[in-house]
Amino acid sequence: MDIRYLKGVGEKRAAQLAKLELFTAEDLLQYYPRDYVDYSQPCTVADAPYDEKCAVRAVVYGKTNGVRVRGGKTVFKVTAGDDTGSLALTYFNAPYAVEKLVPGDEYIFYGKVGGTLSMREMTNPTALPVHSAETEPFAAVYPQTEGINSAYLSKCIRNALDKGVTLPEYLPEAMRREFRLAGKMDAVRMIHFPRSADEVREARRRLIFEELLALQLGMLVLRVRDAAETGARIRKPDLTAFFKHLPFTPTNAQMRSIGEIVNDLQQPVPMNRLLQGDVGSGKTLVAAAAMLAAVQSGYQAVLMAPTEILASQHAKTLAGLLEPLGVTVALLTGSVKGAAKKRVVAAIASGEAQVVVGTHAVLSEGVEFANLGLAVTDEQHRFGVRQRTVLANKAHKPHLLVMSATPIPRTLGLLMFGDLDVSVLDELPPGRTPVRTYAVTGKKRRDMYGFLRSELAAGRQAYIVCPAIDDGENDLLAVNSYYTDVAVPLLEGYRVGLMHGRLKPREKAAVMDAFARHELDALVSTTVIEVGVDVPNASVIVIENAERYGLSALHQLRGRVGRGGGTAHCVLVSDHATESVRKRLSFLCHTTDGFEIAKYDLETRGPGDFFGSRQHGLPTLRIASLANDTRILKAAQEKALEATRSDPTLEQPEHAELRELAKSLFARGVAMN
Ligand code: ADP
Ligand code: MG
Repeated sequence: MDIRYLKGVGEKRAAQLAKLELFTAEDLLQYYPRDYVDYSQPCTVADAPYDEKCAVRAVVYGKTNGVRVRGGKTVFKVTAGDDTGSLALTYFNAPYAVEKLVPGDEYIFYGKVGGTLSMREMTNPTALPVHSAETEPFAAVYPQTEGINSAYLSKCIRNALDKGVTLPEYLPEAMRREFRLAGKMDAVRMIHFPRSADEVREARRRLIFEELLALQLGMLVLRVRDAAETGARIRKPDLTAFFKHLPFTPTNAQMRSIGEIVNDLQQPVPMNRLLQGDVGSGKTLVAAAAMLAAVQSGYQAVLMAPTEILASQHAKTLAGLLEPLGVTVALLTGSVKGAAKKRVVAAIASGEAQVVVGTHAVLSEGVEFANLGLAVTDEQHRFGVRQRTVLANKAHKPHLLVMSATPIPRTLGLLMFGDLDVSVLDELPPGRTPVRTYAVTGKKRRDMYGFLRSELAAGRQAYIVCPAIDDGENDLLAVNSYYTDVAVPLLEGYRVGLMHGRLKPREKAAVMDAFARHELDALVSTTVIEVGVDVPNASVIVIENAERYGLSALHQLRGRVGRGGGTAHCVLVSDHATESVRKRLSFLCHTTDGFEIAKYDLETRGPGDFFGSRQHGLPTLRIASLANDTRILKAAQEKALEATRSDPTLEQPEHAELRELAKSLFARGVAMN
């Protein structure tokens, strides 16, 4: 049912709800609370702890009319109390909340308590009549956006339930009995309107189980379709000339990974391997060797990068490594147009282009490979299951090598790629020292610029990263005004460049090239420089509004410096120094292990955030946490395996529900046919 037709919604509200990706009444029922306000054990006025959120039981004595104060706010005062003390309530701009309070009645107020011992105070507390708290002592708290609050969402959900909106029961009865799981609609009711803490637990267990089962089933079904034989039969390559032309000696880890990959390439099933190595560990070289192996057997190889900048940089690197050996390297990105594009596309179709580098554009329709044997993706976070399926459907069922600097925790890797083999570059090329990382507030900005100038004076270069492009997005430092108002004046005498996502690809490339050639000393940029960019002379990276990013993203950004020897520095600047932000940033200051960082992110932010975008094809989980619900994950995994063992594509009638379940989750993120 369209959410607009729900009581209390209408067009305007529907538009706000759409921002939360809530389009139907059914979506709403699956918008689960992130927490609850607990009204079940209120304290007395005297016992209320200071400066902590708590529930206080008190009788309303009286209230004033609203008074306009400076700043256009209207203030209402309410007096309340119990045998132990008095409580002064102040409400700003909340006429409806105050209207509902009846003098003489008893309520439970929830909020922070301040004031003095003789006069306790609360500001804009929520209130629940005591008799309601007896039947429904928990009020759901939803993740929200502007204009929509939890009470409103609760009301809509109740309306939907009253109207008889239901969600399908996907779990077969036998399975529910085996794990003592609540029915779907019971769980939905309990998660939104629990009568006790036990009900919350019961509802969560059921819903988490269902979600993780869907995820497992979906991945198993996808995996089956990939197991077919490859048509790309690659012989043992001769890499002698390749190694001879290298400007340096490969690390042991690089040699080992190349060996593992070359071995995979000679097997009759498609390689499905993750090459994991921290930033700067030298993954490109390993990819080059793999691509050369494919070319030597007469196949084409493609390397896909998430951004055009990175793609053109890779094209240059690969051309440098492979063209001396007689391999033709072609670049195809969105900004290659017209006649040039025609030429490249034709060269790919004829097989003349042996190594192709590009963005995901190269997987698009109209680009046909003569005989693709190997696909490599760099920084795969945005390379989803969907693209993988496109690849698998190419004539030869090519081998796949996934490169990532963000270590993918085992659980996630399994979910995204099925049985993925892993090669690890656990060794950095010689001469690298860890990037020194500091977290500071904006107050230190001037000092920090002093330090920047001294680095630039010593002939080094710096990145300065800011979030948005235009001003007005709250108090984020926008890259444009930051450039003119802060960076240029404070770095007077130095050449400062500006780069952001709204520049045309060609302009971006020009700025990046100028920086790489040291025609610019400093580069103010949005995170378009995030992945892979390689300018060894850069020794400092400053990240403004650091609180905005996941730690893995920050770690990636930090990896832009320290590639050329000498000490490198990363300064994380944040004015939002809340306790949790401080903790996160300080974790990064003391940790250089990408795996630990990824784990921390996963635990504190969840898988969607972990990969930073929805394009990866991993559905966003509504309630389960891959990091915390490992026990349920295991049980669900067993059940999924059991069902797919006899019926790999879930075609049998007895698996109809499970098939629907898998589809329901993946419909949002992944095409599953
Ligand atoms: P990443 O794993 O982050 O993609 P790159 O492949 O970009 O790393 O390599 C980072 C830098 O290290 C490049 O400048 C590359 O030329 C250099 N490099 C790679 N392997 C070695 C090596 N074995 N010895 C010295 N430098 C190396
Ligand atoms: Mg790289």
